Amino acid sequence: MRLVLSGIAASRGLALGRARIREAHRLEIEERILAADEVDAEIARLHQAIAATRAELARLREQLQGALAQEIGEFLDLHALLLDDPDLATGLVELIRTGRYAANYALKLQRDRLAAVFDTMDDPYLRSRREDIDHVIGRVQAALLRGPESSDVIGLAGEVLVTDTVAPAELVQLSERGVVAVLVSQGSPLSHSAILARSLGLPMMIVPADALATIPDAAAVMVDAGRGEIIVEPGANDLVDLREREFAQVREQRTLARLHTAPTRTSDDTEIRLQANAESREDVTRAFRLGASGIGLYRTEFLFLQRREPPDEDEQLAAYRDAVLGMSGRPVTLRTLDLGADKADLAGIALAREPNPAMGLRGVRLALARPALFRIQLRAMLRASGYGPVRILVPMVTQREEMLAVRALANQYEQELRAEGHHVADNILLGAMIEIPAAALVLPSMIDTMDFVSIGTNDLIQYLLAVDRGNDAIGALFSPLHPAVIRVLHEIVVACGDAGKPLSICGEIASDPHFTQLLLALGLTDFSMHPAALLEVRARIRQSDLRTLRRRRTALLRAQDRAALERIVNRF
Ligand code: PEP
Ligand code: MG
Repeated sequence: MRLVLSGIAASRGLALGRARIREAHRLEIEERILAADEVDAEIARLHQAIAATRAELARLREQLQGALAQEIGEFLDLHALLLDDPDLATGLVELIRTGRYAANYALKLQRDRLAAVFDTMDDPYLRSRREDIDHVIGRVQAALLRGPESSDVIGLAGEVLVTDTVAPAELVQLSERGVVAVLVSQGSPLSHSAILARSLGLPMMIVPADALATIPDAAAVMVDAGRGEIIVEPGANDLVDLREREFAQVREQRTLARLHTAPTRTSDDTEIRLQANAESREDVTRAFRLGASGIGLYRTEFLFLQRREPPDEDEQLAAYRDAVLGMSGRPVTLRTLDLGADKADLAGIALAREPNPAMGLRGVRLALARPALFRIQLRAMLRASGYGPVRILVPMVTQREEMLAVRALANQYEQELRAEGHHVADNILLGAMIEIPAAALVLPSMIDTMDFVSIGTNDLIQYLLAVDRGNDAIGALFSPLHPAVIRVLHEIVVACGDAGKPLSICGEIASDPHFTQLLLALGLTDFSMHPAALLEVRARIRQSDLRTLRRRRTALLRAQDRAALERIVNRF
């Protein structure tokens, strides 16, 4: 029977295949209390399973080849790191010894404990890291039950895998086997698996468990992740529709491919700068290949996650230098630490837990509160400028004093480095992220402290509308189509125009082609986005007539509600 289900896209794309249901990790968990003389043998069994899992991860690491090897290798390294965490093993042994639990039950308890900690985290990226714990513990449990040699990867060519969760390394194997799409009940579009599925071009959706449970094994399944739609047992019309969408997709990809080296100009010949946001070396390579004119936002905090100690100056320098060399002369905007109490624990940076980290010691506040940490980062950034154009961007700025303090430190370290014999470029530009409404409101009186400005709409919308960016329950309220957002964006454009300061926009809104013309209409001419969005946004810009769009500005500023804004945006 035909059935339509909906879900969230973790990786966009179309697919038609046969459902392959993989039961949720339904492991036989032994709840029996062990006899005193069984304890040592159970601990030995646990150690064997951990060793087998470690060997399995190392084997997978060795087999990795090709362009994704580094990206996937990083996931595997993280899993190996979690597995080797002494606290994990000690906690498990303790549970078996004192609680007399079977090893598998101890693993379950430990996973539940850790999951509870991750679930309280405010940061959506970190919350999504909980999956890594699940995958590692799931692997150890599988090794305990089935022995180390067997693999639990299932899925064959032409199949749509339906499962609870999927580990990054497993996705590669699934893709190699010809699995056409993956539907999971747990996860988030920010998870490692989702990021990887996008890199692999493998459609993936997150679907509520009760909806997933209605898909029968071996049923024909049509997936349109872009639309958030799944059709089980599609009819003839659905199949015709799918073919048409596939043709349209191929045509669009061909057109986009031609845009790799095309200039980013509006139809009335105004040049628009398209830069990329980057979080890894792969992003930089991709950005360069797709013709980005620079890196508009390099999120350095990703160097601090997934590790126990913060990276030292040389390690940071190596990462920044790679980005600068990778862009081959095009500017790279390095953002200083945007860690907060929610993220900091992971990098071994001990901070008090904050009840409300989004409003806590985050961004530049943390940087100034932890001068030793900040010094290392600023020095590494300044040294990277010896290899090509670098700009430094400061997050979460609310007051002049913060920018003045950062500038004073940058000047001091610049002199220090030169005295030590390092090469540091002259006149490195120092900019501010405008992502807190207060800073936007008084920008004209602070702008003299900034060489350039970058708008972070993810946080700006969050703070302006009081909508937590990580809370799915109020996700619909998180929209740029609110009159307050439009007016604030316009105020920022005017303030930068009056002061003659370069302005770009680097929040997610810049990656969404649906909003490209809105931003052009408001006067923005420099966008920084996820590399995957570059060609689509470029195509949209090339179809746009800037003069016509700018005539809509007054209507945009006068719009009184979301419906009015939607009407204008849909008519562009
Ligand atoms: C933003 O807030 O819009 C932004 C680009 O920064 P982040 O998403 O890293 O907070
Ligand atoms: Mg931000």
